[in-house]
Amino acid sequence: MYVILAFFVGHWALSIFVQTFFLHRYSAHKMFTMSRGWERFFHFITWLFQGSSYLNPTGYAYLHREHHAYSDGDGDPHSPHMYPNLMRMMWKTKERYQGLTTGTLETEKRFQGDAPSWPLLDRIGDSYLTRVAFGVLYTLVYVRFAPHWAWFLLLPIHYLMGPVHGAIVNWCGHKYGYRNFNTSDRSVNSLAFDFVTGGELFQNNHHKFPMAPNFAARWWEIDPTWSVIRVLAWMRVIKLSPHVQVMRYQPKDARPKVDTTIADDATAS
Ligand SMILES: [Zn+2]
Ligand SMILES: [Zn+2]
Repeated sequence: MYVILAFFVGHWALSIFVQTFFLHRYSAHKMFTMSRGWERFFHFITWLFQGSSYLNPTGYAYLHREHHAYSDGDGDPHSPHMYPNLMRMMWKTKERYQGLTTGTLETEKRFQGDAPSWPLLDRIGDSYLTRVAFGVLYTLVYVRFAPHWAWFLLLPIHYLMGPVHGAIVNWCGHKYGYRNFNTSDRSVNSLAFDFVTGGELFQNNHHKFPMAPNFAARWWEIDPTWSVIRVLAWMRVIKLSPHVQVMRYQPKDARPKVDTTIADDATAS
């Protein structure tokens, strides 16, 4: 049982880490830079950890830039306020993502470019053969270690890990939670200590300050991925962009301060 639990939690955590760190904060927003070698390394582990549900960084970046530009309005690829239910939203998101990834759909010029591309790995990661092979691997772990058939009910989550995380963040993050900042969309913060989706559920904070690599704004909010980013910046694996923002929640004047000195602070500490 402990092997299965560890496998589930480990797959969940590693998959959400590459999604929020590499696909979201790096590919889509360029909050930090890294050498070509490190980019390849993180691209590779994104494939490895997302496995059967690997998301192409370019397709993800284009889709996500559309989401910020049109958040909860016409043109938002996945607003929960535009669809009658979660499944409908996810299906439409999948169609748009696939079109942007394969080039059958085009996005606006301003959303294009500046995203990691590794054609060979992306082709391998997107092939049915690879996706099914990962699925078989996950199943074999359960066949070997699951003490009861009921544990097999968790397998579909392994198969669809990337989209499951996307569904939770895109649906709950614009529907259930509290707001720190006034934004033109309906984004909310769903969890104060977001160890479930690595900080992704601070949607309200993130939409207000899309270039802040720390998604937490108040002293009691915790974005675990920010800690990893700080360590990687300290190790000089990544370098924070000079354009990054710092969120400061200031209830007195309700006007959060924007500070661009964090790049120096984080790399020097
Ligand atoms: Zn959002
Ligand atoms: Zn974003």
